[in-house]
Amino acid sequence: MNTALYINGEKAQGLGERFSVLNPANEKEIISVDGATVEQVNQTIQDALTASKQWKNSSDSNVNGFFTKIAADIRKESDEIAHLITLEQGKPLGLAEFEVQAGASWIEYIANLEIPVETIEDPSGKKIKVFNRPLGVVASITPWNWPFMIAIWHLFPALKTKNCIVNKPSEYTPLSTVKLVEIINRHLPKGVCSLVLGKGDIGQALSEHPDIAKVTFTGSTRTGQSILSHSVNTLKSVVLELGGNDVGIVLDDIDIDSVAEKIFGSAFLNMGQTCAALKRLYVHEKIFDKLTNKLVEIANAQVIGDGLDSSTTFGPVQNKMQYHKVNMLIDDAIAQGGQVITIRKQFKESGYFIAPTLVTDVQEGIALVDEEQFGPVLPIVKFSDIDDVIKRANNTQFGLGGSVWSKDIAKAEYIANQLECGTVWINSHSDLSPAAVFGGWKLSGLGYSFGLDGLLLFTHKQAIHITQ
Ligand code: ADP
Repeated sequence: MNTALYINGEKAQGLGERFSVLNPANEKEIISVDGATVEQVNQTIQDALTASKQWKNSSDSNVNGFFTKIAADIRKESDEIAHLITLEQGKPLGLAEFEVQAGASWIEYIANLEIPVETIEDPSGKKIKVFNRPLGVVASITPWNWPFMIAIWHLFPALKTKNCIVNKPSEYTPLSTVKLVEIINRHLPKGVCSLVLGKGDIGQALSEHPDIAKVTFTGSTRTGQSILSHSVNTLKSVVLELGGNDVGIVLDDIDIDSVAEKIFGSAFLNMGQTCAALKRLYVHEKIFDKLTNKLVEIANAQVIGDGLDSSTTFGPVQNKMQYHKVNMLIDDAIAQGGQVITIRKQFKESGYFIAPTLVTDVQEGIALVDEEQFGPVLPIVKFSDIDDVIKRANNTQFGLGGSVWSKDIAKAEYIANQLECGTVWINSHSDLSPAAVFGGWKLSGLGYSFGLDGLLLFTHKQAIHITQ
């Protein structure tokens, strides 16, 4: 199993702290990994800076050609990559396969984007050309929930805009990212895409380095704030995709069976460990019982187990910290009068298993409703008045996403227009698109990813004024 760093296009042995990567389905060590030292991080950035001098002048067709080859290799090796994702992350193999294929499609989409050059005429008639120039070397720091996909979300917009990039994956899930960077380095020039491994201290050494022009980060609000605070001295640009507490508002005119399936799928996507998963469900009182009964049926029917087992539909959560946090939130909600309406399965064997859990008789003021659970438990709250539910939906520090569920699209749009968050879905949730900008308001983030808007945040604008 490859656990090398990638420095200047070559595999390198980490000389820093050794850490274990565990399989969350059985808590056994998959492999121990030698992390980078700060000196290796510095060397990686130095080499990337050298590489950027050539890379910034690459032709668009060359870059797009590289991307197409990388996506093809990913598809060819998808079985091996999906296996690595399940092993280190825990999700069922089918979902890991989706992560790999969707990642390849995302790369192909970016390959087809065109970076615009805008020509404008000012009031005096002067012509001005506005170019999007590369920033230099970008640092990417990725989390453990969708390790392969999020690495693609970070790396390819930066590379497309002709930056060099250095990634540090989560210490919990580095293996599929090592494989990704190995594939990328088959095709790209040396030093354009590099990889360092390690814990938060290595992430910090990378992100605060003065030669890093931009940091793209997906993870917790706390770590995002730390990265932002370290960006001040060198005025780095920062994109932060942080946590959320996405609301779902269900009106009384829905088709219960099909909506229940979709709501379950988006609230428990990746065992609930998805930034833009549905995390608080508000259901109109007229359909509350029918919808919750259907959700209970779906939750109780899940086959919980090792993601590598073909019968498994629901895997473990990724790590012990998250396992304890989710169990604490459930226990706290029960202590405050919450009712668990799903079967609370006990798991004897090792592994971080929590059955998908639905909790009713809860409301604002209880941590399970107010905080981000990032795991397989969903609070369900009854409402009767639309204006009141909009207020309650917005009464949060987070602003990543939200959804409205109704057959009445005009009414759903009326509600969507009033939600204070970066993305609102009508009759779906968490199905992200490479074509549309995505970013959080309030404590959910800073800046944007995806679409042309997200891509261009990896560039400097340069205006050239032409006087004849
Ligand atoms: P979690 O605690 O759930 O792992 P984090 O937001 O801390 O969530 O982790 C996301 C990524 O940020 C990981 O790759 C982690 O190693 C990295 N990281 C943690 N602390 C820091 C830091 N101070 N500076 C930069 N990166 C960090």
